[in-house]
Amino acid sequence: MHEFSVASSLINICLEKAKENNAIKITNIKVKIGKLSGIEPHFLKEAFEVVKAGTIAEKCEFEYFLQDVVVYCNECKKESNVSENIFICMHCKSRDIRVIDGEELFLMNLELEN
Ligand SMILES: [Zn+2]
Repeated sequence: MHEFSVASSLINICLEKAKENNAIKITNIKVKIGKLSGIEPHFLKEAFEVVKAGTIAEKCEFEYFLQDVVVYCNECKKESNVSENIFICMHCKSRDIRVIDGEELFLMNLELEN
């Protein structure tokens, strides 16, 4: 399952940051999950429960929010939120766009205890 490898890299990043800050415990982790990332939030949450066991993040809370897909239009220079399968500018209907948000998983916040 894809979510397991994502969860393992996520916990590694968190543990590393905790170590840098000499923390003894991770209490809260908040991530942003892009709607285009292909990650199923509830699977990720489940996978995270497994990978955090036995680490200093064992009792941490896992929060997430889903990030809409945001595109930038090269024609009219505006940003719009689009649905996952309609890739056009919502302002001028141009297809000359690039995705600027909603593609990845991003660690937003980490709460540590020293
Ligand atoms: Zn446009």
